[in-house]
Amino acid sequence: MAAHCKHESCGTAEKVWLPYEFEGRSRGLKPHSYCILCGVVKNVSPDRAKPMGYYTNILARLGITKVQIRLSAKELERMDFDDIYFMTRSEQEEVFISVVQKYSKVPENRIRASL
Ligand SMILES: [Zn+2]
Repeated sequence: MAAHCKHESCGTAEKVWLPYEFEGRSRGLKPHSYCILCGVVKNVSPDRAKPMGYYTNILARLGITKVQIRLSAKELERMDFDDIYFMTRSEQEEVFISVVQKYSKVPENRIRASL
């Protein structure tokens, strides 16, 4: 994966038509932007990634210690967790849950309920 690429989208004319899937079902073709620096194709589904701030707010509300928050946030940042090009929101949620559970004992259903 393209670590820490700043991503620059191609122009509208260069967009590529690719199969498009949402909620596990194929929805035909749709124009996708791609990054002219690393070639990653941008996620164009409505399942869009959320910014890091959205998840750090959740971390702050889970009732875990400051150290647990910092460790979780650092690990998420290392993974380019908020890269809207190749992360979807549902992927983010799975990663978020596994990282939070690595550093704390918050049960999965409580994390899910806060997302
Ligand atoms: Zn890129």
